[in-house]
Amino acid sequence: PTYAYEKMRRQLELDMKELWYTVRGHASSIGHTDFEQIQDIYRLLRSYLLKLRQEDGYETYRERETQELSKIMQNRIRTLQNPPDCEKAKKVVCSINKGCGFGCQIHHVVYCMVVAYATSRTLILESKGWRYNRQGWEKVFLPVSDTCTNPSGSSRADWGSGNHDVQVLTLPIVDFMKPRPPFLPITIPSDIAGRLEKVHGDPHIWWVGQFVTYLLRMQPQTQVLLDEAKSKMDISSPTVGVHVRRTDKVGTEASFHPLKEYMVHVEEYFAIREKYEGPVQRRVFIASDDPNVISEASRTYTSSEWQIMGDRTVAQSASVAQRYNGLIGIIKDVFLLAECDYVVCTFSSQVCRLAYEIMQTKHADASGRFVSLDDIYYYGGGSGTIQKAQFVHKPRSSGELELEVGDKIGVAGNHWNGMSKGTNQRTNKVGLYPSYKARNVFAKVNFPRDKWWTL
Ligand code: GDP
Repeated sequence: PTYAYEKMRRQLELDMKELWYTVRGHASSIGHTDFEQIQDIYRLLRSYLLKLRQEDGYETYRERETQELSKIMQNRIRTLQNPPDCEKAKKVVCSINKGCGFGCQIHHVVYCMVVAYATSRTLILESKGWRYNRQGWEKVFLPVSDTCTNPSGSSRADWGSGNHDVQVLTLPIVDFMKPRPPFLPITIPSDIAGRLEKVHGDPHIWWVGQFVTYLLRMQPQTQVLLDEAKSKMDISSPTVGVHVRRTDKVGTEASFHPLKEYMVHVEEYFAIREKYEGPVQRRVFIASDDPNVISEASRTYTSSEWQIMGDRTVAQSASVAQRYNGLIGIIKDVFLLAECDYVVCTFSSQVCRLAYEIMQTKHADASGRFVSLDDIYYYGGGSGTIQKAQFVHKPRSSGELELEVGDKIGVAGNHWNGMSKGTNQRTNKVGLYPSYKARNVFAKVNFPRDKWWTL
């Protein structure tokens, strides 16, 4: 397909969603019958678009190209992680023990690995005494290197000490990184960006997903446990994954959302598919840190069109999971969510962002296969989302942002009602603007190691 075609197809999907969010945002001023009619037309249009993608003859290309790019990236990481001579190899050392949950710690290690990749160094992961498994990373996942795990070297310094030319560089947590390099997620490397942007609507999430995929390669015994969990559930297509983050998160870092609020979007997804497939078995996989959510769903969705799945014994509150080694539980939940066709969750949770990142590596262009009840996708401590205004916007009320074509906007969030909030970098003003008037720009830089590789 031409790039123009792919861009147009993806834009159509994004703008249709924005149209629907706008209608939903004004639901109270639209009569019930009108609302239902608009909803029905919207579902029809979305289903046509899905069909169009199936029928445009490019899906094989999309699949082949994303697989090819994944292969290139996995090879590069493997090569970097297995240097010919570990004694002489340049290294970055990173300790997994950031004081936070599983998703947060994995994102911490991903950041370390991105730095390793960008600076052509081998990542040495220190994980003894890991809060999720005292014996360390290798008890559940394959080692990040087969040949080079020794953190020692002839010279050593901390990142930011002014001396980056040492053999061993130790990394702080991302928030304390000074100076901040230009290549932190969600920035993508220029060398791969051209090919990637053609086939993927969210190249920066795919990029993070590549590191997650490399890192979370399982030990055989972990794989057996995951396969067992998979065989107990039927995650065949179509299945929607729902992640409900409760316990310690609610009221501190995120708001409470009742199950019903998630299920509205699950219904919407199935209703769109049913427009062209006819009635489907509505399979829903639920993961949560609160087991009651799974019972509630099973009690509520009892009619035969629904099949509610989820493992109550796996769901464990964040603090319990850490104390009693709920590691296998959280791994199962993350990977099963990633197997689904679509996820409905709160992107304020690192667990759901992690699952969504892995999902990107399982489909040809999985961008858009989510609904978040709160934040847009982001990478904690990394560079934020930037959009570029495609249309002029004249504020219609106070609180709205003035936009000129080409203005860059630092996005704070999408309110999922047709409006987004952000800072216009030209005027430095903060305000609301119609989401459809701006598009994501994917920051790219030449990673220092670009010169090493040819595509
Ligand atoms: P966040 O706090 O949601 O951003 O994500 P973190 O991964 O940093 O911490 C949440 C912790 O809560 C996880 O590491 C798990 O221990 C637990 N948790 C959250 N959601 C789930 C879930 O769906 N299933 C299981 N088994 N545990 C979960």
